[in-house]
Amino acid sequence: MSIPAQPSGARDEEPDGPEGRLRRFATIWSRAIFPSTATSLTRPEFEQHLLPLARELSETLHAHPFDAAPAQRVGTALVDAHCTDPDALSATLGVIESYLVLYCGGNGPAELSTEDGRARSARIQHTLAGGYSHALRERTLGEQEAIARSALAARSHAEQVLHETQTRFQAVFAEAAIGIAIADLDGNVLELNDTLTRMFGGLDSHVRSRKLTEWAHPEDTPHVWRYYHELVRGERDHYRVEKPYYRNDGTVLWTNLTVSLLRDSEGSPEYQLALMEDTTERRLLNLRLRYEATHDALTGLPNRTLFFERLEKAVAAKGGTRFGLCYLDLDGFKAINDSLGHAAGDRLLVEVADRLQSCATAQGEMVARLGGDEFVALTTGPNTAREVGDLAGRILGVLSTPIRIEGRELTVRGSIGIVEGPSGIRSAAEVLRSADITMYRAKAAGGNRFELADEEADARAITRHGLTTALPAALERGEFFIEYQPLVHLGDGSVHGAEALVRWCHPQHGVLGPDQFIPLAEHTGLIVPLGRWVLEESVRQANHWQERHTDGGPLRINVNLSPTQLHHPRLVAETVDVLERSGLEPGALCLELTESALIGADDGLLKPLRQLAEMGVDIALDDFGTGYSNLANLRRLPVSVLKLDRSFTRGMQQHPADPVDLKIVEGIVTLAHSLNLAVTVEGVETAAQAEQLRELGCDTGQGWYYARPGAPDRIHSLVLADAV
Ligand code: C2E
Ligand code: CA
Ligand code: CA
Repeated sequence: MSIPAQPSGARDEEPDGPEGRLRRFATIWSRAIFPSTATSLTRPEFEQHLLPLARELSETLHAHPFDAAPAQRVGTALVDAHCTDPDALSATLGVIESYLVLYCGGNGPAELSTEDGRARSARIQHTLAGGYSHALRERTLGEQEAIARSALAARSHAEQVLHETQTRFQAVFAEAAIGIAIADLDGNVLELNDTLTRMFGGLDSHVRSRKLTEWAHPEDTPHVWRYYHELVRGERDHYRVEKPYYRNDGTVLWTNLTVSLLRDSEGSPEYQLALMEDTTERRLLNLRLRYEATHDALTGLPNRTLFFERLEKAVAAKGGTRFGLCYLDLDGFKAINDSLGHAAGDRLLVEVADRLQSCATAQGEMVARLGGDEFVALTTGPNTAREVGDLAGRILGVLSTPIRIEGRELTVRGSIGIVEGPSGIRSAAEVLRSADITMYRAKAAGGNRFELADEEADARAITRHGLTTALPAALERGEFFIEYQPLVHLGDGSVHGAEALVRWCHPQHGVLGPDQFIPLAEHTGLIVPLGRWVLEESVRQANHWQERHTDGGPLRINVNLSPTQLHHPRLVAETVDVLERSGLEPGALCLELTESALIGADDGLLKPLRQLAEMGVDIALDDFGTGYSNLANLRRLPVSVLKLDRSFTRGMQQHPADPVDLKIVEGIVTLAHSLNLAVTVEGVETAAQAEQLRELGCDTGQGWYYARPGAPDRIHSLVLADAV
């Protein structure tokens, strides 16, 4: 049945006319998200509110040429309408996915083809999600600022005023935008302000009904309660932790909690003062950022970052478990991409991703896209020796059915390299490398097949054990050397420093990269002398550059610091010593630490970093965005540089670059700059990426586009070249 499309008129309003269908879409939408909104509108009012947004989506769906940008405004409008619960976003995306084309796809001449509709709907969803997260981030940042300001005011006030008059304190108490409570040393809540009551769901009695010690939550970190008891015993004056609570409706409230001990005039502990900042929303944003940083926007599959994390877990697992990995590369994908265009290529990848996903549904199985036309499937458990072959067979099986794209039947085939074995022997990087080599063997044998990694070659390959025992002697024998990779100003392309990257020239295995031995050195503690050597050597090198290159401003040196080094009691003393002996000023040194090294770092751990920062040494947060991206933490850390992980630049290799990726980078840059942090991006491989990143406001770039890591004199000649 087909009803001719009508431009306008009475029949539009009929239930089956376009207008009627648009209304039905708006009804479904509002039904899906109304329960999770914080709007003051009634259901019918809310539906009325959504109608123009639904119309905008419908018009976007049909626009010629297609441009998903208006969907971004719809995302923003949802935040403005208080649909800030993440369920509202996922429900909206679900409704668009299932109903937009169905109700607004049109019919007759205006009808979209299924494929076109699906592709457009997907772009609309991505763009809307981008607009939504951007708006949410802006809002959260704005609120954060306000809270931080009043918290500071409240705190300094509170401390002074407390010893003065109760009345003035009450005023601060009531006005503060942050939750404040006072309790005695037994944990009985004596006073609390309205903000705090609201944070807990609005019931004063809910908060007062129990002692502080009864507010345990399964996600509490163990030191929360250790700190608590130290404080009430008077052994500690304050602590600051991230802590979850249950509200009276059972939902979880996440807070940044600062507790201070108040002493009487003789100095004996008397009360505890708690300041609470509601971080629930920011946490959700972090989770979403984390999701976006770990999933491929085109196919929705886990991306390389997430896959690598899982693989690392699988290969490190203890207790006799095994793992099996299939590394798949499509045969002849480039030819399809070149002849039918990128859009068709993308659609093909999406279809392949769907089919792969259907092959790995059992417990312990996962599929991910590494990039381009490379996919991986992982299986874990006791029986992977048998399972991994079945898995590879299923993959080749699902690929054998032709894929219909733009009226053509395309036959896709793939080559698979399999690595299977017991956990606890090889590193994730080794396993992936072995699978990659094996995949090429399958390809060289004609493709459309799988091959197993060669046992013998693996046995010959570098074992963890062998490397670990050879490490100490290697340092004594001077087998390590450093390569330098330039750090380039995105603004004018000038080189202003370099990162020191260590390598091991192994007598049997040749040059080994840090991924192959740094984890072992960390594990055995050798990282401390090795790290000290890298610092000495590269600081000396930087000083040498500076002496030879006086006119173009000082050349800076970035040195990686591993978590064990951070815990070393002589870190500050030794760094000062190295700087003094070389004559390099502290401002020319930047120490890079990964985000994960600083997770949950308490004040004791941050103290050496603070001391170094106060001396003028820059501290950079390396690999930002790979895992835990805790935006809330940033303000607390003595860092001055954020190094965005390569996974972000990877998303920009597509053409056009993924808008969600761009938005995320833009958001992070804005946040970083508002906290006075400079942003360096890693893995810049093309001119287009460099330009894109410069436009997004990033300050410094590093990557193969400028130079691969190399010998120290290369840096010097690069600097001379841009001085000319
Ligand atoms: P990282 O700090 O993230 O270093 C950047 C890594 O990205 C380097 O790998 C570099 O060669 C690589 N890279 C640079 N530009 C590009 C690009 O355009 N595309 C791609 N695909 N890769 C690029 P490398 O040298 O293998 O170092 C790996 C990691 O080892 C480093 O990651 C760092 O965490 C660690 N590391 C290196 N040297 C040291 C050291 O002296 N001490 C410690 N503790 N860790 C080190
Ligand atoms: Ca680094
Ligand atoms: Ca990095």
